[in-house]
Amino acid sequence: MKIFVTVKQVPDTSGTVAVNPDGTLDRASMQTIINPDDMNAVEAALTLKDELGCKVIAFTMGPPPAEGMLRELMAMGVDEGVLITAREFGGSDTYATSQIIAAAIDTYGVEPEDIILAGRQAIDGDTAQVGPQIAEKLHLPQVTYAGEIKKDGNTLTVKRILEDGYMTVKVQTPCMITCIKELNKPRYMNIAGIFECYRKDVVTMTYETLKDHPLIDKSTIGLAGSPTNILTSFTPPQKGAGMMLSGDGRETTDKLAGILAGKHII
Ligand SMILES: Cc1cc2nc3c(=O)[nH]c(=O)nc-3n(C[C@H](O)[C@H](O)[C@H](O)COP(=O)(O)OP(=O)(O)OC[C@H]3O[C@@H](n4cnc5c(N)ncnc54)[C@H](O)[C@@H]3O)c2cc1C
Repeated sequence: MKIFVTVKQVPDTSGTVAVNPDGTLDRASMQTIINPDDMNAVEAALTLKDELGCKVIAFTMGPPPAEGMLRELMAMGVDEGVLITAREFGGSDTYATSQIIAAAIDTYGVEPEDIILAGRQAIDGDTAQVGPQIAEKLHLPQVTYAGEIKKDGNTLTVKRILEDGYMTVKVQTPCMITCIKELNKPRYMNIAGIFECYRKDVVTMTYETLKDHPLIDKSTIGLAGSPTNILTSFTPPQKGAGMMLSGDGRETTDKLAGILAGKHII
């Protein structure tokens, strides 16, 4: 049994966020962190590994320094880290990104008991598309927003946390699950793990490694393979100060109606 986890290195937006004149993030000047939801996916994988014994393999697509993040994950207990990196992959939107990550996972062979875990959403791109798209490309069932996962043979029982309640879903492996912060509390690295992670190799997958996979074609990866076009990006103007209305219910309703009528909104 293998558990594949996708992990993205993202800018640490809790500090100062620098923006280039063209509206894109100035990533070079920002610290990076492991995408928070992905830490929950990693913890879920390690919990299943502790219970059932299995191999946990983490995949990231990004620039070469992302190797450091993979080592941190290996210090937590991940068995293998895979860095997917190539100039040809640059400029990929979510469609192309998921195409490439799906191909990388597929090279390991997805077997009947295997599980793919992703974070629900990355805090920079914020689309929540990559996990579900990987599932589609590998023709696997998927369950999103997992707040609890139980495994019994080839069946997973997953509690999906929704805005107004929860839904319990049973799904057969192999499958894709996207994870949210309510799922668990990620563990810390331990000293033995920190020593151990430098004895393990990070596997690097480049365009050369993946180019013969059926999902990989110059027309499905990179900027050329990205159907999304960003027409413009801008920082929205700051909202003005709000207005507080005082008085009892009737009085404030009348005042509000008067203001809205004065602005020709009603
Ligand atoms: C036209 C275009 C060009 C772009 N060019 C670039 C570029 O040159 N360089 C660049 O860095 N970004 C680029 N991007 C952004 C890039 O497409 C997204 O960051 C990426 O597809 C992930 O989308 P997301 O952040 O919305 O992730 P989400 O879909 O919100 O992520 C969900 C989960 O998927 C997994 N995941 C997502 N991305 C990765 C990853 N890279 N590795 C491993 N797991 C992952 C994680 O588990 C994550 O929690 C571009 C976007 C567009 C539209």
